[in-house]
Amino acid sequence: MSTGWIWHEVFNWHNTGNGSGFFGPGGFIQPHVAFDSPDTKGRFAALVKVSEFDKKMVALDTSPATDDEILAVHTHGYLQRLEDMNETGGDAGENADFGPQGIAIAKLSAGAAIGAVRAVLRGEVDNAYALVRPAGHHAEADRGRGFCLFANTSIAARVALDEFELKRVAIVDWDVHHGNGTQSVFWNDPSVLTISLHQDRLYPADSGMRSESGGPGAEGTAINIPLPAGTGDGGYLDALDRVVVPALERFRPELIIIGSGFDASATDPLGRMVVTSAGFRSMSQRMIDAASEHCAGRIAFIHEGGYSAHYVPFCGMAVLEELTGLDSGVKDPYMAFFADYPQLQLEPWQKEAVDLASELVHHVPDHRQ
Ligand SMILES: [Zn+2]
Repeated sequence: MSTGWIWHEVFNWHNTGNGSGFFGPGGFIQPHVAFDSPDTKGRFAALVKVSEFDKKMVALDTSPATDDEILAVHTHGYLQRLEDMNETGGDAGENADFGPQGIAIAKLSAGAAIGAVRAVLRGEVDNAYALVRPAGHHAEADRGRGFCLFANTSIAARVALDEFELKRVAIVDWDVHHGNGTQSVFWNDPSVLTISLHQDRLYPADSGMRSESGGPGAEGTAINIPLPAGTGDGGYLDALDRVVVPALERFRPELIIIGSGFDASATDPLGRMVVTSAGFRSMSQRMIDAASEHCAGRIAFIHEGGYSAHYVPFCGMAVLEELTGLDSGVKDPYMAFFADYPQLQLEPWQKEAVDLASELVHHVPDHRQ
């Protein structure tokens, strides 16, 4: 088993400002780091380095996404607007701030997502993890949103379809926020099944409802699994077992891309979920198993959000251990605090939400023949 790994130090240079969260400085708001600070992903990368786990993976080169690759998903006008702001920095749309030269970094982030998918599809590695920044799943064709500039996973999926002529790709996004951008890119495209598990009406607050299931000609190829705040490992695994895995079985993707956000973690400042590193480990295992069953193990994890600088590194390491099948020797020191949380068990109101979402599986196009 070989796992491709992408991280580039320059992802830490993506400058989201000192506006204290996502607010501009001013009034009584003392300047402070943004939620999307370099700390979370940087500390994940550092843990991989210090534990020497990077030596157990294949370091994949990354190059910036080309304009053509970006324009397969985004509009000319949007790309031009960003290029015009590259020297000064600015806001790509809604809460998507970047500093000078930020567009070059965002192109590298999208390029890393493509690189992970290409390496898997070329058979250079069995699977891959691209730790990228900025994230991508909120970005829409013509605007950035929610810390996202380019739609990294969508751009990579587009390459899989166009360059490798795949007929079907599934994107499973377990970032705590709705994958609105990914859903909108493939809304009318029956070749991509988008599945989003997220905290019910968190961000964007007006999207991610179960009723959003795909546009004309692509009915059933968008699945939304809104989960109540407070859902932990038990609820997420129930959703994977009863919605995501059966949906993949029907759709039979030739590649699975995971939108790997860790902001459903038990310590995240922007989510109210209770997933532990053990939960992310089990979720990853189920997706790796699904990839083995349906697409010769072809799976690529593309990093999305996750804002607990304390905990993201250990959640990430659990995922990498599952991808490689190797033990890093790193123990999650926080697990002792979370192990007895009652929220880790499936609660009745969480089961109810999964029950409702499970009805969507019957509408997924059936490619089992
Ligand atoms: Zn998120």
